[in-house]
Amino acid sequence: MRIAETVTFGGSALDRAAQLRRDPQALVTALERGRILPLWRGKPLMRGDQPGWLPPGHPALAPAAPPVFLGLDDGIPRFAAELSAWTPAADQDSVPPAFFDPSVQHHPDLPPDWGFAELRGVMTLLSPRAAELVATAKALLQWHASHRFCAACGAASDLAMGGWQRTCPACGAHHFPRTDPVVIMLVTRGNSVLLGRDAGWPDGMFSLLAGFVEPGETIEAAVRREVQEETGILCGPVGYLASQPWPFPASLMIGARTEALSEAITIDPEELEQACWVSREELVTALAGLNPQIKPARKGSIAHFILQNWLADRLD
Ligand SMILES: [Zn+2]
Repeated sequence: MRIAETVTFGGSALDRAAQLRRDPQALVTALERGRILPLWRGKPLMRGDQPGWLPPGHPALAPAAPPVFLGLDDGIPRFAAELSAWTPAADQDSVPPAFFDPSVQHHPDLPPDWGFAELRGVMTLLSPRAAELVATAKALLQWHASHRFCAACGAASDLAMGGWQRTCPACGAHHFPRTDPVVIMLVTRGNSVLLGRDAGWPDGMFSLLAGFVEPGETIEAAVRREVQEETGILCGPVGYLASQPWPFPASLMIGARTEALSEAITIDPEELEQACWVSREELVTALAGLNPQIKPARKGSIAHFILQNWLADRLD
């Protein structure tokens, strides 16, 4: 797909400057002239519709964990740091885990138009460079938060290589940030596309089928297995469309397309609440927000991107 990398989080050729990661003194120097993006419980600091970069030593960074190095942004060293030790004012509590957290937390040491916001709500406003930096920051910091102990011996591990590794002081094991591959597929049959919905989704929301690639499995096999498990439909050859880093928390969405070889749907209720064939015409009204039965995937998701470009005949 020629326009694959125009998807949200599609990348901006950020210079990740990996050579600096193994040079502690160079990292210290880079930090002195760099900018830091704080994240609070996975929510990036936003200044309006752009990331809220702070200089090192800013009072709002006071309880932050050690920063991780993201790369050089037109020569400016960019870092990110987790600020979870900070507690917002009582009336600014985060919304309990649900599909989307619309709350914004404001820090007393920052102007009122700065705040910690859910990335899903702002991702389509960001430039490609800002989107790559924020997605990388969120994924990397979440990995540190959930991998504090050595998987080999259980001892507490230490952040190393500017945040791109954790090392175990007890057994010497090295651990690297995880990215979990997920296939998400455009399954078509003639003029229709297969959509499904999970039980926990907002009312009426439908999207492309998706699922984790399992150990020992190719992308093609994962596409066919997931579609068959979830809907009973058999698929033919599988082609690659586009990929999207999806830091919720650590996925790489691999967009694929395939033709269905059968039509009858038998859903697995453990996996899906509903699945259906949707014609191009029905999808056009859904994407325009005019179809009361079907609300399509959120703008910015690779599902939305693939469906929109399928309708526009831009998948080549
Ligand atoms: Zn260990």
